[in-house]
Amino acid sequence: MHTKTNLKALTPQQAASFFHDAGLPSFRARQLLHWMYEKYAQSIEDITEFSQTLRKRLSEQSHISNLTLLKRETSEDGTEKFLFSLEDGESIESVLIPDKDRLTLCISSQVGCAMGCLFCLTGTLGFKRNLKAYEIVDQCISVSRLIAPEKPTNIVFMGMGEPLSNFDEVVDSLWRMTDLMKISKRRITLSTAGIVPKILELGSAGQSAGQTVFSARMRAPRVNLAISLNATTDKVRDRLMPVNKTYPIRSLMDACRRFPLEPRRRITFEYVMLSGINDSAADAKRLITLLRGIPCKVNLIPFNPYRGCEFGRPSDETVLTFQKILLDAHMTALIRKSKGQDILAACGQLKAGYG
Ligand code: SF4
Repeated sequence: MHTKTNLKALTPQQAASFFHDAGLPSFRARQLLHWMYEKYAQSIEDITEFSQTLRKRLSEQSHISNLTLLKRETSEDGTEKFLFSLEDGESIESVLIPDKDRLTLCISSQVGCAMGCLFCLTGTLGFKRNLKAYEIVDQCISVSRLIAPEKPTNIVFMGMGEPLSNFDEVVDSLWRMTDLMKISKRRITLSTAGIVPKILELGSAGQSAGQTVFSARMRAPRVNLAISLNATTDKVRDRLMPVNKTYPIRSLMDACRRFPLEPRRRITFEYVMLSGINDSAADAKRLITLLRGIPCKVNLIPFNPYRGCEFGRPSDETVLTFQKILLDAHMTALIRKSKGQDILAACGQLKAGYG
């Protein structure tokens, strides 16, 4: 059976070839990309800039895929959680977090996650599969369409999955966000549990001659980097985040020091505070030593206990004491409230409606 080409799956170069092979002028490919990424067209029929005849002709051999919205929930604090199903029936979540003048969209890069972080509900789900670049960026397109005329102001890769374990598709999706959706790379943040070689690859400027920006091993747009750190000793981090056994703290910090930052940019270190595990004054002091020399800011995130988990939330006093130690050392340290707790939309709590 002849399957129709999914136009959303095509890179700009592939879209150009598709139109060229169909004997159509190249500006048609640019119009298609504009309608899919900036006007959020859900079908070829939506592209009214194309004549009826052209739409009919294209529809015979191609289609535009879409995420299907299964559920949309709003938390008391205004956080919204979107549950989408994919074409193969798997589901993913995206979370929209309003905060002062920002509207941050937190997106998923995998179905489930293989990293197995002990404090993370998503981790308990295990790994199902990588998302394709078009499925990653479709979260931005779908949510933008659903909330129009508003738009997310910031995109963070902090939903389900470890983005650097799905490197090529994630980098492809970053190019689609920056070049096709016209989202500023300064407003996109990629968060990793610490896959050291991929951090170095992400930062490497090794774009060779003749390499197209959408090819598989391409240089990535210079988006912001966040590291999910959560511990100050290998003993504790080995336990909380198994990835640390392969890439211990020292190698992670070394990669961060080597990561090329643009002027006035900083690496964000996420630090989920777990009562009695990583929240002591000694931890705060070790953190200062670890981060010395790295332009950075620290986000302290008091843990959100979920049913059945073994960790507790530190007291407000403990969190404030920890923060003060960092501030006294002239570090930028913010206490981040986990938003959307009542709908399980907080960091590390996305489970796409499973269980
Ligand atoms: S915290 Fe992130 S990397 Fe760790 S298991 Fe959860 S989703 Fe995966």
